[in-house]
Amino acid sequence: MSTQEHPLGVSFEFFPPNTDAGREKLAGVRDALAARNPRFFSVTYGAGGSTQNRTLDTVLQVREAGITTAPHLSCIGSEKQPLRELLARYREEGIDSLVALRGDLPSGMGGIGELRYANELVTFIREETGDHFEIAVAAYPESHPQAPSFERDVENFARKMKAGANLAITQYFFNADAYFHFVERARALGVEAPIVPGIMPITNYAKLARFSEACGAEIPRWIRKQLEAYGDDSEAIAAFGEEVISRLCQRLLDGGAPGLHFYTLNQAAPSLKILDNIVG
Ligand code: FAD
Repeated sequence: MSTQEHPLGVSFEFFPPNTDAGREKLAGVRDALAARNPRFFSVTYGAGGSTQNRTLDTVLQVREAGITTAPHLSCIGSEKQPLRELLARYREEGIDSLVALRGDLPSGMGGIGELRYANELVTFIREETGDHFEIAVAAYPESHPQAPSFERDVENFARKMKAGANLAITQYFFNADAYFHFVERARALGVEAPIVPGIMPITNYAKLARFSEACGAEIPRWIRKQLEAYGDDSEAIAAFGEEVISRLCQRLLDGGAPGLHFYTLNQAAPSLKILDNIVG
């Protein structure tokens, strides 16, 4: 943890770049965001371990800015032994925070592995490493796409928290009420840990529509219609996106959200502009 955290408790997520140019760009992005004293950075992980080494390399690069950096770790498709070895490697590298996930099996990939759900991964990490890691897990205010019902999904979420997670980060969403409702239901099931909203800045409609379809985040009709109307006008999309997401963030914070976790997509400017609007 940095000693002078951003008063809002912000965190920023990156993905591992796969080119030298991407790595170079990320160093600049990291520095621009580190200046806001985030609580932590995190780095995503490919399902089935496909980016395992790139995740660690990126964590080592990103944390040069002096900010706690948490690798994401997914269990689906993996046996316990490689996960045990990875946890040991992370400890050797002085990593003490993780984002623990089930992940999704890439199509055509083999078996489910020894741990089927994120709650089993959290239990495994606690059994193997005690209290060494601060563990964050995922939450879905609009329900995980495979959940049989909202209530069942919140129960599964509560089970995962009780397995030993310290913090939850939500999937992104554009409807603040979905977040407040989810938090209320989770609290009713005894979850006391912070549930931090995940924030996706809007910069590109085609990409956003694709991601949202895959992860079950609903783009409200009025936002969709407006973005469609802008067509290729990326400046108009960015300006509208900034306004909509800044307002969402303000509402979340005013309603008691304990911080904001930005899905940066390895860009600094969109998150910074939003932060300027809500802090300044
Ligand atoms: P789980 O919590 O295991 O839930 C998955 C589904 O199973 C849900 O429908 C749940 O209701 C159900 N379920 C849970 N526990 C049980 C149980 N014990 N019995 C029966 N049903 C159960 N993906 C990546 O590949 N790499 C990443 O780096 C990554 N980072 C992410 C970061 C955040 C903040 C978020 C929100 C998501 C991220 N994802 C990432 C996506 C995530 O891996 C997928 O959403 C995945 O489908 C579910 O992972 P989970 O950890 O939420 O799973």
